[in-house]
Amino acid sequence: MKNNFATVRKVLSRGVPGRVNAGTQQSAGSELLDTSDNLSRRNFLSGLPVAGYSLIVLADRTVDAQTAPSPEEILPRFERIAPPENLRHMDGTERHMTLVDLKTDVLVAGGGMAGVCAAVAAARHGAKVVLVQDRSRLGGNASSEVKMHIVGASCHKGRPGWRESGLLEEFRLDDAVNNPQRCWELWDLLLYDKVVSEPNIILLLESILYAASVRDGRIQEVMVRCDKSEHLYRVKADIFCDCTGDSRLGLEAGAEMRWGREARSEFNESVAPEKADKQTEGNSILFTSRDYQRPMPFKPPAWARRITKEQMIHRPINSWEYGYWWIEWGGELNTIGDNERIRFELLSIVMGVWDYIKNSGQFPEASNYALDWVGMMLGKRESRRLVGDHILTQNELMSGDFEDAVAIGGWPMDEHTPGGFDASDQPPNVNTYIKEVYNIPLRALYSGNVRNLMMAGRNISATHVAFTSTRVMGTCSVMGQAVGTAAALCCKYGLTPRDLYQRKDRLSELQQTLLRDDQTIKGRRNEDADDLARRARITCSAESDDAKASLVTNGYTRDIPDGPINHWAAPLASNGAWIELAWEKPQMIREVQITFDSGFQRELTLTSSDSANKGIVRAAQPETARDYAIFYRKPGLDELVQIAGVTENHQRVKRHHFEPVSAQAIRIHITAANGDQYARIFEVRCYA
Ligand SMILES: Cc1cc2nc3c(=O)[nH]c(=O)nc-3n(C[C@H](O)[C@H](O)[C@H](O)COP(=O)(O)OP(=O)(O)OC[C@H]3O[C@@H](n4cnc5c(N)ncnc54)[C@H](O)[C@@H]3O)c2cc1C
Repeated sequence: MKNNFATVRKVLSRGVPGRVNAGTQQSAGSELLDTSDNLSRRNFLSGLPVAGYSLIVLADRTVDAQTAPSPEEILPRFERIAPPENLRHMDGTERHMTLVDLKTDVLVAGGGMAGVCAAVAAARHGAKVVLVQDRSRLGGNASSEVKMHIVGASCHKGRPGWRESGLLEEFRLDDAVNNPQRCWELWDLLLYDKVVSEPNIILLLESILYAASVRDGRIQEVMVRCDKSEHLYRVKADIFCDCTGDSRLGLEAGAEMRWGREARSEFNESVAPEKADKQTEGNSILFTSRDYQRPMPFKPPAWARRITKEQMIHRPINSWEYGYWWIEWGGELNTIGDNERIRFELLSIVMGVWDYIKNSGQFPEASNYALDWVGMMLGKRESRRLVGDHILTQNELMSGDFEDAVAIGGWPMDEHTPGGFDASDQPPNVNTYIKEVYNIPLRALYSGNVRNLMMAGRNISATHVAFTSTRVMGTCSVMGQAVGTAAALCCKYGLTPRDLYQRKDRLSELQQTLLRDDQTIKGRRNEDADDLARRARITCSAESDDAKASLVTNGYTRDIPDGPINHWAAPLASNGAWIELAWEKPQMIREVQITFDSGFQRELTLTSSDSANKGIVRAAQPETARDYAIFYRKPGLDELVQIAGVTENHQRVKRHHFEPVSAQAIRIHITAANGDQYARIFEVRCYA
């Protein structure tokens, strides 16, 4: 990395006041701060006068600053989905089911990573959302039911700097702090918390979308059933998002779709097979095991496969605490219709491989290990893909850009042999490395023939070859955020997703909204005309040679190793470090948004793999500012007034809303990071 902050020089300490107006009110978890240069850091945090100070920190939409809804606020939602009276029962075969009508702006089907991010993004942009998930847990393959670790554009540790930002980063940072023990059920719970904490979301768990009615090329309503509660839901919405992985919503709505591998000639894809076929990547079942410190025998069931050394030539076993993605099967069958058969085969392979590890005599180090979890739910990779206004292809992943870019990807094109484990004479996969991160266009995220249908996840509009890269869940998450945001804008302006693409002003609004929400779009920067920070003059207490203060408004919010630096850094002196944005004329400001550094040069994901977990910080990321305060300078005065104060921060993006102030300047004063000796900020935005 170029980020070498060895040389630091003191730049400025403009009339630092010895006194700060102190307030009477303080938000939870915040501290009153003083900017006095001669206070020690400890005093800085504790030694402030209190009288006459006005501190107003309104709830914002980012994690720990978010006001957690009370049970009283959450409970009415249950009455909407299980009304106590006026029940209408269905006729005929469903006569014991109760019909409930729901009307919403956005319906999201499927609560995997794509669906969760779509629902949360749409809800945070003001849309009413119904999120339908057929299981009891959110997260799809990343839930405790499958335990697949999320990867994406940074290719584990292979492409440092490109970890996904936005909602996924928010979730991961919370998880790292609250779940150092790497418990998958806590990750499920985190996703549940994110969803139920959004007042705009109605969550229907254990509810499956099974029908849709379409008129004039638009979905009018969908049917969802919850057999646990014996309800049938008839849901009307303006925009429908298919995040089911299997495109079930698109299927029911008559959307155009594809299955299998295109011929090389169709899209001029060098890694596609010569002839098109219906084969796909297969499904998998994972397991975890642990060391019980005493011999742990294992007897396989009678139906377990008998595994030989020859079968394992291309499938090396180096550790066994976390199962193997190459226990894969079913790509030559129908990965949906043959679900039960595929489950049986996969379980028999899992049992057989574990038997091989425990009883073949080749792995004596495994004698104290025993299985502590075996999946029962198939981890699915591939089935139907919806066809949009654009089909993303291999060549576009390898080079090219889109005017309607809304998200990034970067995982290699990761082709698995459809024969899976039984094709033991072949390697389980072949990777075609993609040199640079690529952009994903909006047109691949909405249906070409169903006007109000969008999609995110492994079922987007892509060729099979492009899908082998876009399918990973970091990429699915950022696509979900793009789709949810786009859906909310469609509802706001009464547009279809295609209109949104065609109306260039709205398309640009979508991209700028995404960037403001910390989504990365390669090559795009903050050009938000409303962001007052872009017109500010910037000074600071100190700055490093290559991490200048002026970079906090250059529009870019990540550093790529060996690339340009895009953040400000200053050593944390005894009284911290500050950066100030000043305007010639006073500005009315009601929101300050700060993007801190959360260490994108490292991997951050929940994984049961000990080797993948190496180097991951399961705590607050050291670079992130922990304690800081925001002040404003009243016009014509030198005095600083505190408007927000935060301690114990671990989030990358923080938004601070307050009663509007007329400010000549805004100062952010960082007094501690989570271990690092520097204050670091990628971006500051200010809004009226
Ligand atoms: C073994 C294995 C290894 C993999 N390795 C990785 C890896 O290392 N990292 C990585 O990031 N990705 C990996 N992948 C790929 C990745 O897991 C999938 O592509 C990804 O899960 C797609 O995310 P999604 O949100 O589109 O779908 P899913 O995760 O499948 O989520 C869709 C959700 O929708 C629900 N649903 C489906 N139909 C309905 C319906 N009709 N009504 C309501 N809900 C419905 C499903 O229950 C599910 O929870 C792997 C996949 C497998 C199987």
